[in-house]
Amino acid sequence: MADIASLGDLRGKRVLVRSDLNVPLDGLTITDDGRIKASLPTIQALRQAGARVVVMAHLGRPKGAPDPAFSLKPVASRLGELLGIDVAFARDTVGDSARTVVAGLDDGQVALLENVRFNAGETSKDDQERGKFADQLAQLGDAFVSDGFGVVHRKQASVYDIATRLPSAMGQLVATEIGVLKQLTEDPERPYVVVLGGSKVSDKLAVIDNLIEKADRLLIGGGMVFTFLAAQGYSVGTSLLEADQVQTCRDYLARAQDKGVELLLPTDITVAPEFNADAPASVVAASRIPADQMGLDIGPDSALAFAEAIRSAKTVFWNGPMGVFEFPSFAAGTKQVAQALTEVSGLSVVGGGDSAAAVRQLGFADEQFGHISTGGGASLEYLEGKRLPGIDVLS
Ligand code: ADP
Ligand code: MG
Repeated sequence: MADIASLGDLRGKRVLVRSDLNVPLDGLTITDDGRIKASLPTIQALRQAGARVVVMAHLGRPKGAPDPAFSLKPVASRLGELLGIDVAFARDTVGDSARTVVAGLDDGQVALLENVRFNAGETSKDDQERGKFADQLAQLGDAFVSDGFGVVHRKQASVYDIATRLPSAMGQLVATEIGVLKQLTEDPERPYVVVLGGSKVSDKLAVIDNLIEKADRLLIGGGMVFTFLAAQGYSVGTSLLEADQVQTCRDYLARAQDKGVELLLPTDITVAPEFNADAPASVVAASRIPADQMGLDIGPDSALAFAEAIRSAKTVFWNGPMGVFEFPSFAAGTKQVAQALTEVSGLSVVGGGDSAAAVRQLGFADEQFGHISTGGGASLEYLEGKRLPGIDVLS
């Protein structure tokens, strides 16, 4: 798909870039600038090409009108620090301030527009309302670059409609993410191991559904384990259980067997009497969880077995912590799975917001993994086999 080179000579051209700068804020302080850093390569490449870069982004969920609590102003300052230049900040999205700031840009300079979600047109379900906002945005640029991977699954004005109005291309961040997702779904090197965890089966049903067709082994951990154990007829004590999904899990177990896919469930579970960091932990067989205990991590035997399956793979996709990693007593399973991913001689991919947070919190460096996905929702939708409107519109 078309990268920024396909836009031709960008010298002196105004290029609108949709980035994902939706960072966590504590008041005016950015508590994690990972997303800003991830957006730098495309912005730098455009600057080097002599473009006048106009960055569009959203922050949080304002209700379609200006709200100072969701201003991107602090992000403009941090972006400037990271780029080592002044980043001009427009106090509106398509108004006088935006027009003035963009008109004042020189080649290689960068501006950031105020939160696009301050305009109701951004997220409107009404094509005309969205289109009207996209028309106004399009007047601020000569070309569009889509680089906000976290939003490419959304049909929104600054993601989708704008691309139907200007010559458009994919930024480096989006290109990398899509490249990795293609490797995971089109022709993965085998053995291909998929590790799924996290809190709820219902969040991941569609992913299981699609990847059960593609993986050689599916490892299940985290809170969703208990619905699978219930599907096998075991009682799960006070563990997280989605009773309405038991039959679905039973169907998955049967389908895996039909397809010759190995579906690996934990054989032991670390349990505690309550959901608490200091609750006393003990290890029990997965088939014998006491009625008054809840499973908060996969057990040590299971962690070992999972780690071995992962290390012997050529492609691994992991989404969802194996346990309540936020509590140190229940982080061991997640840590061993993460460690095993770092030892894979092939492609290892971590997807999901909490999974990415977990590997960082447990002391791993991003470079130890083949890829850590920045967009939870977008990657999951792709892996579910859904089309991403913000990508489709570029081709
Ligand atoms: P991701 O954001 O990576 O997709 P999820 O949002 O699906 O992951 O799940 C992350 C959450 O799952 C974590 O907060 C973790 O504490 C929780 N979790 C994992 N195992 C369990 C368990 N056994 N019981 C309850 N919660 C769990
Ligand atoms: Mg999550």
